[in-house]
Amino acid sequence: MLVKTKTTLVASKAGIFPFDGCTADSIYDIEEAEIDYCCKLMEKAFQEEFIGFGEFNVDRPLNKNNNVNIFHCSPYPEGAVWDEMAIELCPWCKEKIEILNIEIKLL
Ligand SMILES: [Zn+2]
Repeated sequence: MLVKTKTTLVASKAGIFPFDGCTADSIYDIEEAEIDYCCKLMEKAFQEEFIGFGEFNVDRPLNKNNNVNIFHCSPYPEGAVWDEMAIELCPWCKEKIEILNIEIKLL
């Protein structure tokens, strides 16, 4: 499975740096741009939000998590907390999950 992403970076005082050399703090947002699903079950899991790219959040905040994740919800009286766990292979067809950044924007 291939997930193509777009990343927004905040430029450091030193200027522009290559994507691979960036620190976590310099990443502003990573969003999925295009997904080539490995199998129908993975596509269904994405649609039903059992699995997804980055952090789980309905409102789609800025995301710094560059993984495909399994989501888990812990409900509390004050509100639900969502956790995620990164996966490297499809749990159904065992195909490797690749993440490829195709665009970098600088703020
Ligand atoms: Zn699959």
